[in-house]
Amino acid sequence: MSRKGGRPPRLKLTLRSTAETIVRGGHPWVYSDSIKSQNREGEAGELAVVYDRKNKFLAMGFYDPDSPLRLRIFHVGKAVTIDPAWWKNRLGETLARRTSIADESMNGLRLINGESDGWPGLVMDRYAGTLVVKVYTPAWIGLLEMLIPIMVGMLEPERIVLRMSRNLQSWVAKEGGPGDGAILHGPPLDGVVVFLENGVRFESDPVKGQKTGFFLDQRENRKRVGELAEGADVLNAFSFSGGFSLYAARGGAKSVTDVDISEHALKAAARNFALNKEDLRVAACEHRMEQADAFQWIEDAPASSFDLVIVDPPSLAKREAERGRAIQAYGKLNANAIRLLREGGVLVAASCSAHVSEEEFYGAVRNAAQRSGRSFEEIETREHALDHDATFPEAQYLKCVYVRFE
Ligand code: SAH
Repeated sequence: MSRKGGRPPRLKLTLRSTAETIVRGGHPWVYSDSIKSQNREGEAGELAVVYDRKNKFLAMGFYDPDSPLRLRIFHVGKAVTIDPAWWKNRLGETLARRTSIADESMNGLRLINGESDGWPGLVMDRYAGTLVVKVYTPAWIGLLEMLIPIMVGMLEPERIVLRMSRNLQSWVAKEGGPGDGAILHGPPLDGVVVFLENGVRFESDPVKGQKTGFFLDQRENRKRVGELAEGADVLNAFSFSGGFSLYAARGGAKSVTDVDISEHALKAAARNFALNKEDLRVAACEHRMEQADAFQWIEDAPASSFDLVIVDPPSLAKREAERGRAIQAYGKLNANAIRLLREGGVLVAASCSAHVSEEEFYGAVRNAAQRSGRSFEEIETREHALDHDATFPEAQYLKCVYVRFE
């Protein structure tokens, strides 16, 4: 990360005209083939300035010569000085967008949502006193030393954990930087942290867990599931640590069946039920767990055995090329899930595939509903929650549709 000799001149770029227009409109991504010229080759994580066709300041971004996503824009508009005071101001603006969400019953939420909050390639989740900063692009590694004291000053966390995408982990290791799961502030963390989401207690594993340890993005859908669960036999397919299940149990579900391929996830679900056993409805709910391939399990389960079925698989299209097959897979999976519903039962079908659009996903579920030959009513659709706001198309991944069947 250090350079020998004198400081090279500031990295300056110009863009092809379409890309220039897109960046001016607020889109944060510039691919390598959109760069028209640059004054020199840049280093990974270097701050670059973009000039427009009239040679006027347009934007600033983080440069990455090793990624086709060559530049991630974090500021567009007037020329500014990027210093600690500027970042402090940006953090203040970002946190202000969340004041309506956090309260005493909610100390688990996303505080920074990457590009959509002006922090390209960085997310920060809060789990009670623990902040988890997950970074996906090299620039942040060099900025952490400056940013951590700002985060500590404004949020007063007990600790801050660093997580990194897999690509970044190897780059940082070569540079001699911190490891994945490193504690950047506060005491070490042995195991999990417990936090509250709408008053439900959950554990998160910030150091070793998937993403930042929990799927905070489904909070609002979980709440809705709780409202639909009274007296129901519930199937939670791809349950992970039982997020939907706990809300269903608290909402008065008679039984909840978690199906996940991961033993680790199911053990976490059992612990989450134990954490909430003082809630009488959670204690009264029969909790079953099935470690299985949920695609197959749903296909094999007896028809008409549930009143509420939640289907929230991992992304089925990690690449654009997988889009078509993913749409088909959503159709088949949800058709099988519909078969499991009793009369009056509700399907909650979710997708986290960014490459599958809302129309495509909702279309696949509606087709499956039509093919079932049953009459059905679409209750609602939901996308991103306020703390997971998505300001550009590629960031819109979460979709969920609720359908009631006769
Ligand atoms: N609904 C969850 C998040 C689901 S994440 C929540 O609200 O927290 C996707 C989950 O699917 C992971 O727990 C993963 O272990 C599981 N999974 C992946 N492939 C699977 C498969 N073929 N069958 C069952 N579970 C699977």
